[in-house]
Amino acid sequence: MLLNDQLTEPQAAGVNETIIADVAIVGGGLAGSLAAAVLARAGHSVVLIDKRAVYPEEFRVEKIAGQQLEILRRLGFVRELEAVACAYNHVLNIRDGKLVDISVGQAYGLSYDRLVAMARGLIPNPSTLIVDQVTEVSCSGELQQLALASGKRITSRLVILATGMAGALGHGLGMRRRVLASRHSVSFGFTIAPPDNAPFGFEALTCYGERPADGVDYLSLFPVAGGMRANLFMFRDPADPVMRELRRETRPTLLRLMPGLQPFLGDFRVIDRVQNWVMDLSIVEGHLQPGVVLIGDAFQTNCPAAGTGVTRLLVDVERLCTSHVPHWLKTPGMGIEKISQFYVDTDKMAADRRSLRMARFRQALTSGNDLRWNMQRRLHFLRRTITHRLDRIHPGWIARFRSALRA
Ligand SMILES: Cc1cc2nc3c(=O)[nH]c(=O)nc-3n(C[C@H](O)[C@H](O)[C@H](O)COP(=O)(O)OP(=O)(O)OC[C@H]3O[C@@H](n4cnc5c(N)ncnc54)[C@H](O)[C@@H]3O)c2cc1C
Repeated sequence: MLLNDQLTEPQAAGVNETIIADVAIVGGGLAGSLAAAVLARAGHSVVLIDKRAVYPEEFRVEKIAGQQLEILRRLGFVRELEAVACAYNHVLNIRDGKLVDISVGQAYGLSYDRLVAMARGLIPNPSTLIVDQVTEVSCSGELQQLALASGKRITSRLVILATGMAGALGHGLGMRRRVLASRHSVSFGFTIAPPDNAPFGFEALTCYGERPADGVDYLSLFPVAGGMRANLFMFRDPADPVMRELRRETRPTLLRLMPGLQPFLGDFRVIDRVQNWVMDLSIVEGHLQPGVVLIGDAFQTNCPAAGTGVTRLLVDVERLCTSHVPHWLKTPGMGIEKISQFYVDTDKMAADRRSLRMARFRQALTSGNDLRWNMQRRLHFLRRTITHRLDRIHPGWIARFRSALRA
């Protein structure tokens, strides 16, 4: 069967034979599922392959806000997010038992498995998803070949690798992950409730760490379907005994690390499993190859505390699937002159760079203990507190001042 521009549905043959599509996307996490939805909705023939029919309850991003919402809105997916997530507008930001400021803006809380399910639900034709494991990929400037664990094969014009932190397929293509910062951060995720299940006295709350030696960046509390979700982000040795204490004695350890939390939070209990994750910051090298492109965590990992992982993957999806891929499919071949256009895309490069910059900034702001960072930390919170107080005296003044400066 020939591949042509008119092909809008993947062409399947029998078992152990070959499926043919314009684009084969490996990995149906958030990046791969959104990429499949955008391309399929634009009429391209797409197959999405993931080894799991349903994404498991794993701890990943659990809140969506700011630029992430802007991109989802441009892609036309915000209504679907609103339908499955818990909306909140105000975040009380505190440190040392005192109010720093209040962030105002639309945000949504939901578990990652629900977010991925929502993204998969955006794909117009459910048969686009093949539940299987890709065991081998071979790529060229013309057609790409994928071998699946079931024995099926896929031929496509382009392969998008959205395999998250699993690097085996890229490794098989000669790509390497360069670790920029080993064990850069530690994150904890769990759900809390007041003893009597009464509502908390806030919509959402962020409590920043009080002492650099503790390595606590912040605890973020926000609503999800199952209650009040807690994400704790730290820069500290994952082997430190405090990690075990946080898993086993979560409540007293949190209050010991952040005594100023108690008056705002009141009494509470942890109502589900405490999950935690140690993150390496890494980037792939040797990725510029014909016929294959990497998006999301498959290309670069992110510091969870910086909250840039989803922004990066949304920029990847938007630029690749609304601009580059449609353009590439118009002409024969899939050589590196096409593929390189994505990796030098200015929006993509800016998002990737910002993610690394923010990762380093958050770490230094949290635990930098020299004169410069002690001063910077004081100024950072002082500036926010003063801005907030001025804005309360003269509402809208700061926003007008900032836009006057930009003009
Ligand atoms: C603890 C934690 C907290 C985070 N918090 C935030 C946050 O607050 N804000 C933020 O913006 N970002 C956050 N992030 C980052 C964000 O979650 C990730 O950037 C994002 O989930 C990456 O999505 P992805 O689709 O690239 O990869 P994944 O979601 O990991 O998807 C990869 C998929 O590929 C599939 N796969 C892999 N290999 C194969 C194969 N050979 N065959 C078939 N399928 C395969 C897997 O089954 C999986 O479904 C956090 C990350 C972590 C770990």
